[in-house]
Amino acid sequence: MFRRWWFSKGMRPAAPAAGGPSRREARARRALALGEWEALREHLRKVAAERVTAAGAVFRAAELDLPAGEPAARRAYQWALEAYEAAGRLLDHAGDEDTDLPDLAAAVVLAEQSVERLAAAHLLHAGRRPDPPAVRCYWNPLHGPAEPAPGPAGNRRNRKRAHVTAREAAADRRPTCRSCRAAILAGQQPDVLPALLPAKAAPGRKGPLLVPYFAVPRQWSPWSTTACGAYDPDTPALVLRGEHRRPGPR
Ligand SMILES: [Zn+2]
Repeated sequence: MFRRWWFSKGMRPAAPAAGGPSRREARARRALALGEWEALREHLRKVAAERVTAAGAVFRAAELDLPAGEPAARRAYQWALEAYEAAGRLLDHAGDEDTDLPDLAAAVVLAEQSVERLAAAHLLHAGRRPDPPAVRCYWNPLHGPAEPAPGPAGNRRNRKRAHVTAREAAADRRPTCRSCRAAILAGQQPDVLPALLPAKAAPGRKGPLLVPYFAVPRQWSPWSTTACGAYDPDTPALVLRGEHRRPGPR
């Protein structure tokens, strides 16, 4: 779904030409970027609405009434409830002018993580140990879980692995799902989640343009360093406090 934006020539900054792009070309490129962004945003809004609705149904069917003295289950359940509420909060603002694709991706991530954590709370309540939470793909947190890099991380023997190619190293550098790993190993761009980089965040560049979500400076997006909240357990609280909204205009 997201791959095409990156390969679309008009989405990318123009190669410097003598005198730079004409005003007309710059306007056409801006319109193209915004049109693509709108289409992706509408698609993601629908995905987020589906996930939040599905999570709501799970919460209604699997309500947990915990007795006193189960702090681990209670913490997991509380986190799950807050993540679900935060996902709904992000979805409520889907139509706002400053809602970008990573905001909606974060709604999807939170809705899915809320269901995972609810399941963990039930397991803890039943006296069982839940698996650690799935690590999501860095390149696009909407993807399946990241695959473990070959060999245990930090293993010395692994670090000394002979003939690690540059592509293998790139694929090992971040949590990467199977399909992104295959793309990187084949020398292709992974299916990266884009975000709209505001003109003000890109000095010298004309107009807003689509960039990988992790390329947006932190002061413009809380999502660029946390894989849309997937790597930060404080995300539900951040959203419920309204602090995910950064002051810079997009
Ligand atoms: Zn991926």
